[in-house]
Amino acid sequence: MSEEQLSILLVDDDEVDRLTVGRALKKAGVTVKLAEAENGAEALSLLKNWKNNLVDVSKTNLFSDPVAHTTCDLDLILLDYRLPDIDGLQLIADIRALNLNLPLIVLTGQGDEKIAVEIMKAGAADYLAKSRIEPNTLAKAINGAIRIHQAEQAAELANQRLRVTNELLVIKNQELEKQQQQIKRQNIQLQKAYNLKSEFLATMSHELRTPMNAIMGFSQLLLRQYPDPLSAQQQNLVQRIFNNSKSLLDMINEMLDFSKIEAGKLKPIPQKFDLSNLINSSVEELRSLAVQKQLDLGTQIELKDSCLFQDFHFVKRTLINLISNAIKFTESGAVTVRAWEIEQTQIAIAVCDTGIGIAPQDRDKIFEAFRQADQSFTRHHSGTGLGLAITQSLVRMMGGEISLQSELGSGSTFTVKIPRRYDA
Ligand code: ADP
Repeated sequence: MSEEQLSILLVDDDEVDRLTVGRALKKAGVTVKLAEAENGAEALSLLKNWKNNLVDVSKTNLFSDPVAHTTCDLDLILLDYRLPDIDGLQLIADIRALNLNLPLIVLTGQGDEKIAVEIMKAGAADYLAKSRIEPNTLAKAINGAIRIHQAEQAAELANQRLRVTNELLVIKNQELEKQQQQIKRQNIQLQKAYNLKSEFLATMSHELRTPMNAIMGFSQLLLRQYPDPLSAQQQNLVQRIFNNSKSLLDMINEMLDFSKIEAGKLKPIPQKFDLSNLINSSVEELRSLAVQKQLDLGTQIELKDSCLFQDFHFVKRTLINLISNAIKFTESGAVTVRAWEIEQTQIAIAVCDTGIGIAPQDRDKIFEAFRQADQSFTRHHSGTGLGLAITQSLVRMMGGEISLQSELGSGSTFTVKIPRRYDA
């Protein structure tokens, strides 16, 4: 039995029996504060009073104050089944109706044991025949009833906590579901906007190409100076119209290619070709740009076998983009195109320059569409910012990868590694 003092309400009309219970408890060493009632009415009134002084459990926070509803000064009711004013089962029901949540042991007289089942069904924790009230049996019954009651209370508390946690989880889940739905809706809207943008890009680029070609064609006609010659100034102006139209057309073509890649309309068509020849012809195509800037444009081709089975146009586009960037971003020094075999099946092509270089924080972002290391409106170099995004997509479509080594102020090297044979 625990050392702490127990508070027990003893309801019995027989004073001798009450004394016997008191003595038995004392003998068993139970420290007890015994409240006594002689009949049912008195017991109910005592209990009602006691209940009114109780902490209101419903208003306490189950998590911050878990002991609140166990702090009461009554631990158990010992109830004589036969009382002068009320039937035992009725009294048990009335006590239960008070919702006191207390263990109750019924003391039965001779012959009352027959209704033991009813007593337990009515909600008593235990019953004891008065004839068998001995210190040990009584203490055991009280101890057992309180322990079971405490265990039930703890289980109920845990259950209540679980219910609260569950409700919180359900609410959280509903919130998450709502958010998910919202994200889905936003995604659909984003996708629509994205598709619209790609469509717009494709249509605009396509529509712009026709007048640009006309402008270029007509300025070329004028430059032929036939049948009427042009003055030197006129010639210079028409040449500028032609040059500007050409760079505008290059940009338009870039946008068109980009929108095709985005729409998944561009697929590699492999064919057999000679990489050394392709590198040399690409370099020659761009030589005039390098000459204008007095740059040394050269190649270092160290291929044992320069035959590739890849998309010719993809490789050419990659070379042209990287070499023209290298020339564009280099003011003095050299641009070199290298090619070698990493292994029999893997080819590497590197475009090295001695130009302005790229800062570490810009090295990833320059591969994104419309991104440039210098995003300011006052930048020196024109361009759409699509070249590297297109190049990276083309290289990936060929089954390869592109990487960059660079040092700000010293130069950059873009290295492309592709399989010798395209494998769909
Ligand atoms: P664009 O050349 O039209 O700006 P790109 O996608 O080809 O677009 O290049 C993106 C950016 O990457 C460039 O604006 C430039 O800042 C940087 N860049 C590309 N190549 C080089 C290079 N060889 N040296 C220095 N910066 C480069």
